[in-house]
Amino acid sequence: MGETVGFIHSTESFGAVDGPGIRFIVFLQGCHMRCKYCHNPETWEVVQGSSDSDMVEKRIDELTSSGIRVECMTPSEVMKKAIRFKTYWKNGGGITVSGGEALLQIDFVTELFELAHKEGINTALDTSGNPYKSEGEFFEKFKKLCEVTDLFILDIKHIRDEEHRALTGHSNKNILEMANYLSEHGKEMWIRHVLVPGITDDWKALEELRDYIKTLKTVSKVEVLPYHRMGIPEYERLGIDYPIKDINPPTKKEVEKVTNLLSTAINSVTTVVFDMDGTVLNTLDDLTDSMNYVFEKFDMPTHTVEEYRLVFGNGIKEALRLSLPEGTSEDILEKMLPIFKEHYDKHCLDKTRPYDGILELMKELKQKGYKMAIVSNKIDSAVKELHQRFFSESVDVALGERPGVNRKPAPDMVEAALLELGSTKEESVYIGDSEVDFLTAKNSGLPCISVLWGFRDKDYLVEQGAYCFADVPGDIVKLLEK
Ligand code: SF4
Repeated sequence: MGETVGFIHSTESFGAVDGPGIRFIVFLQGCHMRCKYCHNPETWEVVQGSSDSDMVEKRIDELTSSGIRVECMTPSEVMKKAIRFKTYWKNGGGITVSGGEALLQIDFVTELFELAHKEGINTALDTSGNPYKSEGEFFEKFKKLCEVTDLFILDIKHIRDEEHRALTGHSNKNILEMANYLSEHGKEMWIRHVLVPGITDDWKALEELRDYIKTLKTVSKVEVLPYHRMGIPEYERLGIDYPIKDINPPTKKEVEKVTNLLSTAINSVTTVVFDMDGTVLNTLDDLTDSMNYVFEKFDMPTHTVEEYRLVFGNGIKEALRLSLPEGTSEDILEKMLPIFKEHYDKHCLDKTRPYDGILELMKELKQKGYKMAIVSNKIDSAVKELHQRFFSESVDVALGERPGVNRKPAPDMVEAALLELGSTKEESVYIGDSEVDFLTAKNSGLPCISVLWGFRDKDYLVEQGAYCFADVPGDIVKLLEK
């Protein structure tokens, strides 16, 4: 039996995308799949055997004369070629084996990676997973390969088996089994998905793919690669019919949208619950006007916007109570409430506006696939009206004070919002401007981002226990992705 050899289509000395850092890439020959968008049909033909076999030599000659480059090299020959570039492999760089389909030459890849590991070199395998079997000889070899592979870059062509078969000619069941195995055995993975308009861009299927990736524990990166047509001349040269002539590449925006969706699979935070007054809306002027309208009606002293700033956060009844002259009876307070409500319902949109940067923030969060809710101690009708007016395009749920639901800082409103969104507290973050919000987050079991453009200042919030702050709306995305 001859020495293990690899049938190599080509190599690249300074690869920058197939794994971390700068990498030496080895593209192996042979693939059983026939992805309709494959840009390198030259790598399809499978060659198998050992270096001393005449049959192999004959096959390589045949392929070369039909315009397909194939080289036969041992793992140590490849290693010798690669190691010349070692000085460039900073920041986790190293060797990546890609294809064709590298797992068709699993013995060669394992030996090459064993040599690399002996030299302390990082190894990555770019694979479609098609040859994977969870039993027998292949599985034993695969387990050995796992021991010397630092990163698996797995291309999931389509999450639905039927569509996967139509696109590639093969089932995806064993591919997903392979991803599950890698996840269960702590092997780091990057997941790739090629976006082909009309074939792999169905939104529901992409959501299914996102949900599947979420079940994997070791995915550190998700990449969406735009389909391109640069392989067409290669098809023409080899006399192969190009199956998706009429499909154009996706736009940059489409790729970004899908990247945002799939990336939420590895971001632990998927849901953001906002407070309303002082957080997303500057409602202080309209609240002040309605408060003063009520006080004037009862011949009581009115107050300035700044004086009212600190009394809001616990609902209107409490704000009125804190602003009344000392000794005012509870009866008077009860009479004031409906008058306030009637006035505020009519005037809650007079001066109220989202804070600068809030609409842009919500748009960005929406594009990134976050689910959003607003919960407020304001009267439910006003919350719904303000939501409709400013945030209905991006925020899915808006809840205000209503009978049977305890007001913040009780966790009830947050829990009701998460239930409507289908989210858990483990994947959610609360954002608010006051101590009531901080307590609401705490009582709901959510981390809290305290914003500093609202009704309270930082020193006061720190005294109440707040620990994470956003100076401007633009800080929120960075904090969520931390
Ligand atoms: S798995 Fe890769 S090499 Fe094989 S057909 Fe698909 S795109 Fe081409």
